[in-house]
Amino acid sequence: MKKHAPVLIANRGEIAIRISKTARALGFPVVAIYSDADRFAEHVRYADQAYYVGAAAPKESYLNVERILEVAKRSGARYVHPGYGFLSERPHFVEACEKAGLIFVGPSAESMRLMGDKIQARQTVDSLKVPRVPGSAGVVKTWQEAASFAKQVGYPVLLKAAAGGGGKGMRRVDSEAEISSAFDGATREAVGAFGDGSMYVEKLILEPHHVEIQVFGDGKGKAIHLGERECSIQRRHQKVWEESPAPILNRYPQTRPAMFEAAVRVAEHVRYAGAGTFEFIVDGKGSFYFLEMNTRLQVEHPVTEWVTGVDLVAWQLLLAAGELKLPASPERRGSAIEVRLYAEDPHTFLPAPGPLGLIELPTGSFVRSDSAFGSEGEVTVHYDPMISKISVWAPTREEAVDRLRVALDETRVESPRKIDGTRQGSLRTNLSFLRRLVRNETVRGGDTTTDLIAKNPDLTAAEATEPSLEAALALSIHQLLTEQGPAVNAAPVAAASNWSRASWREGVQK
Ligand code: ADP
Ligand code: ADP
Ligand code: MG
Repeated sequence: MKKHAPVLIANRGEIAIRISKTARALGFPVVAIYSDADRFAEHVRYADQAYYVGAAAPKESYLNVERILEVAKRSGARYVHPGYGFLSERPHFVEACEKAGLIFVGPSAESMRLMGDKIQARQTVDSLKVPRVPGSAGVVKTWQEAASFAKQVGYPVLLKAAAGGGGKGMRRVDSEAEISSAFDGATREAVGAFGDGSMYVEKLILEPHHVEIQVFGDGKGKAIHLGERECSIQRRHQKVWEESPAPILNRYPQTRPAMFEAAVRVAEHVRYAGAGTFEFIVDGKGSFYFLEMNTRLQVEHPVTEWVTGVDLVAWQLLLAAGELKLPASPERRGSAIEVRLYAEDPHTFLPAPGPLGLIELPTGSFVRSDSAFGSEGEVTVHYDPMISKISVWAPTREEAVDRLRVALDETRVESPRKIDGTRQGSLRTNLSFLRRLVRNETVRGGDTTTDLIAKNPDLTAAEATEPSLEAALALSIHQLLTEQGPAVNAAPVAAASNWSRASWREGVQK
């Protein structure tokens, strides 16, 4: 193994661990950072050195550029990997790293400005004749200006925060009568959330598919694609299920190569370096429209790793070290799906963090769990409430869905036990929702649009009769006596509730 200089990972959670694993395998020693809230966090354990950077609030710690650069200097780091979120898409941070003599693992500040900024990106793709969602090219300053674009493209429209991300800062407007108050409301929200109230307008595409292209550039004007991912299953405009290949593109075979070509063309134009993702909306007729580019590693990159066999983080690090010769686009095999397990209410999708008592994540052939939580960890209110990504691969989509169903049935996340043995705490998870999702006929059929959840209220409906432990046990005993096997094997109980084989066993042991 070649020895490399250390890499500082300016992040936390599952992505810090994921990057550590590859870095260490390639001979890059890892420097971790942690906040007050992360003193006992798992990502610290995966590093060769770890440094405290500040209080729990991100601006004191994971966004604290000065402290992070100080740590880089003290630790002897040569590279800085930003992960996703936090500082990953801030050109000023790239420049600050360079000024400090560090190598930022990602694109140059210049290409980040051209593509990572939503407004600038719209102008960049316009200049290259890549279709984008109709709407304003730049920021709209007043509601009247927004209304005039809305009139041009037709209602409904979406007001979107220029600084938005993670699905936040969007508001649907159905008619001119609503636009003035919607504009004020959305602007206020964006100021609160991002410290920047700038808005732009887009036509709202109805029943859309979200399809994105993974690219990788060498920073010298050559880029390749690594296939697509479809992420149409979303809640609150944020993905919960991502897969490759995109089922919608199987219906429109000409669309796929056209999207690859557009993404690679733009990436080459901005001399993009490293991993990046072009997000598009695809409508029911197979037309595609550019949405935005994420100039970083994406949450759902494991899906691409499954179908291509490429370790994207290895490519990022080797490119930064000047040791990657960009190959041709890799062939893609089989079908991969990822779901995001969140600490959130499965009916309302509102975050519900809290301490963890027990966590069992699925493993097995072609099953991958990316998480930063062990038993007795805690999902804190300070950061993203994602608990784990669970992803699977299989030769066909149908088999991948079945493999995922089993993986989700095996997953367990529980609050800590009280002294009397019962579990109690504020933690809720979307596991029961994911188990319903993987059994949903539309999902299994692969024709999903971003309004899937709205159209399928059964996915989020409260359980009509949540079977109590006693009731389930009584039923199992009855079925055992009548030789029908335990209740958990009976499809209706297992499928309709968040009862799992494991929780039944635990009941028996009591
Ligand atoms: P991806 O775009 O990689 O599929 P998400 O949209 O979920 O994933 O965003 C990745 C992470 O980055 C999330 O933790 C999200 O909260 C955070 N994030 C993205 N953009 C912003 C932003 N503009 N402001 C704050 N957080 C953001
Ligand atoms: P973010 O930076 O928050 O990721 P995006 O522009 O990527 O913002 O949009 C997030 C999601 O919102 C998309 O995946 C899509 O589901 C929905 N969306 C965004 N723009 C539109 C649009 N013009 N029409 C329909 N849906 C949209
Ligand atoms: Mg997006």
